[in-house]
Amino acid sequence: MHDHQPLYEAVQTGQSILPLYCFDPRQFGQTAFGFPKTGAYRANFLLESLADLRRSLRAHGSDLVIRTGLPEVIIPELVKTLAIDAVYWHEEVTREELKVEQALITKLAGLGTQTQLYWGATLYHPDNLPFELAQLPEVFTQFRKQVEQRSRVDAPYSTPTQLPPRPAVEPGPLPSLEELGVVEPTADPRGVLPFVGGETAGLQRLQNYVWETDSLKTYKETRNGMVGANYSSKFSPWLALGCLSPRQIYKTVQRYEAERVKNDSTYWLVFELLWRDYFRFICAKHGDRIFYPSGLRGLQIAWKQDWQRFEAWRTGMTGFPLVDANLRELAATGFMSNRGRQNVASFLTKNLGIDWRMGAEWFEAQLIDYDVCSNYGNWNYTAGVGNDARGFRYFNIPKQSQDYDPQGTYVKHWLPELAPLPAAKVHAPWNLQPLEQKRFGVRLGVDYPWPVVDLGKSVQVNERIYNRARLLRQ
Ligand SMILES: Cc1cc2nc3c(=O)[nH]c(=O)nc-3n(C[C@H](O)[C@H](O)[C@H](O)COP(=O)(O)OP(=O)(O)OC[C@H]3O[C@@H](n4cnc5c(N)ncnc54)[C@H](O)[C@@H]3O)c2cc1C
Repeated sequence: MHDHQPLYEAVQTGQSILPLYCFDPRQFGQTAFGFPKTGAYRANFLLESLADLRRSLRAHGSDLVIRTGLPEVIIPELVKTLAIDAVYWHEEVTREELKVEQALITKLAGLGTQTQLYWGATLYHPDNLPFELAQLPEVFTQFRKQVEQRSRVDAPYSTPTQLPPRPAVEPGPLPSLEELGVVEPTADPRGVLPFVGGETAGLQRLQNYVWETDSLKTYKETRNGMVGANYSSKFSPWLALGCLSPRQIYKTVQRYEAERVKNDSTYWLVFELLWRDYFRFICAKHGDRIFYPSGLRGLQIAWKQDWQRFEAWRTGMTGFPLVDANLRELAATGFMSNRGRQNVASFLTKNLGIDWRMGAEWFEAQLIDYDVCSNYGNWNYTAGVGNDARGFRYFNIPKQSQDYDPQGTYVKHWLPELAPLPAAKVHAPWNLQPLEQKRFGVRLGVDYPWPVVDLGKSVQVNERIYNRARLLRQ
């Protein structure tokens, strides 16, 4: 309801408004590699978000009309039945969404209905950028510097105080998870946060993270953590589903800077939101290329589709505790820290040499905060096929484990079978001697897997493959 330009503009017309949400069955199908397109955690979060939206709309004198079917069929039908003269929505930038938009625009044009599309989702509006989207810099730092110096963030649109009554039409029930073909997820108490969908919970999280716990003050120092609710903001699921606006966050940060403290941490949260903007603008500029195996960069890497190793990765059974703990957290909760995402993505592509799109699609299925631009943008980047790829770069898993989980607290949290190991041994269980395995009750190959790959050799092999692709491109 807050910072929602289509709603805001529709209210300004003074006409009656029909707020609508369509459950598009295509969103509940399968990805190309056969994962659920919307997995249980995000589906649940979506239902909670819509229930919350419906409550808010009702409290404002309106309602949320819910339908299941193709938007390009359902909306024109409603337009005809109710003699609607204009349809308002936030425009999208990626392939599947644009296809739906185009089909809808064509149908509505045929009916002589007006369409009003508004840009949303980002902190900076493209009209305020110091360059056209077609001239968007290919390197993030150049983008950031220009934007920080020569652009401005608009104030969020206010929440309407009252809505006009909706036309007489059956609101329709919110489908259940079962009706959507999704198995209800079980809440895992080990998760970082019990994520609850909706604007109400999103605004509460903003209030809690910034004001009640003062966590914003130390964001820069804690943001690479992996354990607990407040090492990072956890705003991403609400941002991804449109429950929280980045401009609302920005406004809150500014007030915090004026009233409490302005430091590197307050700057850094906005800096991270710029990454989010950047990937959306990149998608708007480059269209489909973000989905190609060769990525934005056009590198023809001979990616493997090794399902056996992929399954070991996906289920957290690679034999590398940092990688496994993160993938088990994702499977059990639908969330993973940024540090974790970078490590597991690097491991999949730089150690296992596996097609990055398999990893991206698994994230798409599992993540509560899945956002097409941030997900595919980050995967391009980590796989080394992004627009500003700087050669073959990889995460050194043992070093990352030492730097970000020196006591092994995180890996023990998600891999209970390794809990008896002392900190000095928990990140390299493959080094346990037979006597140690007995003493700690961790039998390699039985309680915990042997490593699926040799870290050193595998990066060498994959670096050669990568460099060959670079040579071919030159
Ligand atoms: C392989 C990979 C896949 C990813 N997929 C997604 C995804 O589908 N959806 C998603 O929202 N983020 C994705 N990210 C980015 C990042 O990991 C998450 O945004 C972040 O972990 C969410 O936690 P947070 O809200 O606590 O982040 P914070 O550290 O508190 O950051 C604040 C906000 O800044 C934005 N942000 C932070 N880092 C990034 C980044 N690298 N790219 C884009 N935005 C960022 C997010 O909106 C985030 O909520 C991915 C990263 C990687 C490496």
